[in-house]
Amino acid sequence: CGIVGYIGHREAYPIIIKGLQRLEYRGYDSAGIVLFDGENTNLSKTKGKVEDLKRKSKVSISTNGKLGLGHTRWATHGVPNDVNSHPHYSNSGDLVIIHNGIIENYESVKKALVNRGYEFHSDTDTEVLVNLIEEVKNKEGVMLGKAVQIALNQVVGAYAIAVFDKNKPDEIVVAKLGSPLAIGIGDGEYFIASDASPFIEFTNNAVYLEDGEMAIIRLGKEIKLRKIKNDAIA
Ligand code: GLU
Repeated sequence: CGIVGYIGHREAYPIIIKGLQRLEYRGYDSAGIVLFDGENTNLSKTKGKVEDLKRKSKVSISTNGKLGLGHTRWATHGVPNDVNSHPHYSNSGDLVIIHNGIIENYESVKKALVNRGYEFHSDTDTEVLVNLIEEVKNKEGVMLGKAVQIALNQVVGAYAIAVFDKNKPDEIVVAKLGSPLAIGIGDGEYFIASDASPFIEFTNNAVYLEDGEMAIIRLGKEIKLRKIKNDAIA
C-alpha cells in the first residue's frame, strides 16, 4: 500500500501515477487518485493495478490540477472494490482523504456519526475518519489542521494520512502513526509519499515524519510540524 501527494506548480497527475508505480512493491489491491484544479476535484479509483487506474482515469476524468493525492490500498476493512478504494470524500464533499493503516475503533465512531446524521458509502474505516474530521471542523469551528489533530486524538489505530479541503486550495495536512510518510521539499512545491522514491528526481530535501507527528503543508510557507498529542496548532 502507498501514498503519494503533490502541491505546487506542476501538473500533479503524472507525478502521482509514476509515484504510485514506484510504490507498487509495497503490495496493494486497488488504486485511486484525486486531482484538484482550484475549483473542482476529480476523482478516479479502481480495484486492480495502477495501470488500470491510469487507463480508467485518462478517459473518465479531467486530469488537470496542481494539487493531487494518490493511493494504493491494501484492504483491511471492506472488500477490495472500486467504492472502498481511496480517496474518500467527507459528507459535504469538501474534504478528501487517503489513508494507509487501520482505525481500530471505527465501529463506535461510525455509530456515533450515523446517529448524528452522517451517511456512509463505503465499508472502510477511512471514510469514518474523514467524516469525524469534518464533524470536528464544523463543530469546533477550527481550521483543517486543528480538526485533524482533534479527530486523531479520538481514534485508536495506525495511519499515514493526507487530507485537503476544497476551500483551502493551497494546503494539505498529513499525519503519521505506524505507517511511513515522507515529505519532499522542492522550490515552491511539496511532495508527499510513503518513501522518497516518488519524488527523488525532483528534490533530495526530505523530511520523514516521526510516529505521532503531523504536518501542515501550505504553499509558499514552511512546513509546520506538530505533535498529534499535544502541540498547539494556531
Ligand atoms: N484500512 C484502510 C482500508 O481498508 C486502508 C488500508 C490500506 O492501508 O491501504 O481501506
